[in-house]
Amino acid sequence: MLVAIDGPAGAGKSTVARATAEALGFTYLDTGAMYRAAALARAARPDVDLRRVEIAFDEQAVLLDGKDVSAAIRTPQASQAASRLAVDPAVREVLVAKQRALVGEGDWVAEGRDIGTVVAPEAEVKVWLTAAPEERARRREIPVAELVERDERDASRAASPMRAAQDAVEVDTTGVSIETVVARIVALVPR
Ligand code: C5P
Repeated sequence: MLVAIDGPAGAGKSTVARATAEALGFTYLDTGAMYRAAALARAARPDVDLRRVEIAFDEQAVLLDGKDVSAAIRTPQASQAASRLAVDPAVREVLVAKQRALVGEGDWVAEGRDIGTVVAPEAEVKVWLTAAPEERARRREIPVAELVERDERDASRAASPMRAAQDAVEVDTTGVSIETVVARIVALVPR
């Protein structure tokens, strides 16, 4: 079983996906963290072959070739670097293959930009999580312009642009509690 949660930055995907996974007893996959870690690997070694880079999760930690990069991938620079790297189809191919291998077995809540459209169009449950730009920028503690710049790059790229799957259920989190959002998503999961 796979619950796919896609949407723009600051919509609440990580918090909601993690809590939904907890509520369902599923495993949580943060695909954005994989793009962030890949960008970090490229920044350190511009010619690095991402197929040879190991990106792993250990509880809440993100490991890049065994090194804990959980804090390094969360800076505003890392956000922009990830979004710039994510336009590259060759990069997406490598990371999507890693993601498919993970969610192919077991029960998952995976969040990103293209889970319901590209990584797993067969996902049983698809959610498109949104919120007003001002609220999303406030949550991320960044200027609205910076958030909008990233949204526009993510939505306008040729390779797997960020968009809602046709069969996704849209959930607007503006002014809605996490508990309410999670309950709505859990109710969509057939059991
Ligand atoms: O979700 P998060 O903000 O951590 O993602 C960082 C960047 O990684 C996004 O702005 C986007 O460019 C890219 N990304 C993507 N596809 C995904 C997840 C993230 O292109 N499935």
